[in-house]
Amino acid sequence: MRLASRTPIRCSSCFGQKPGVPHVDFESSYDGPPIDQSSPRSGHIDWVVMCGECIESAHAMLPETRDVVGDLRHRLAEAERERDELGAYADKLEAAVVGKPERKQSANTSARKGRYQPKDAA
Ligand SMILES: [Zn+2]
Repeated sequence: MRLASRTPIRCSSCFGQKPGVPHVDFESSYDGPPIDQSSPRSGHIDWVVMCGECIESAHAMLPETRDVVGDLRHRLAEAERERDELGAYADKLEAAVVGKPERKQSANTSARKGRYQPKDAA
């Protein structure tokens, strides 16, 4: 089995023509039906060369893949929920900081005068 060096006329699984999609050459012969049933002269597919989309579809059917994909979907859902919660928390923090009144400072706090003022100093 190897990556096909060129795009076959048809994928031996879906019979599609997909020039932009990589194909896998299984290096095995195949006595398949005519490409076009209504026209026996249309040719036959002689070699098992499948497009990447068919390979991915077949891979997704495997039980191990389904378990991995299911686990990844669960982890993605958890990560998205956590992201949303943290985003809401960040929004609350930002709103609290923006809405917080600024501390008022007097112009001259160090020279604050006490209540008692000696008469001589006045
Ligand atoms: Zn295909």
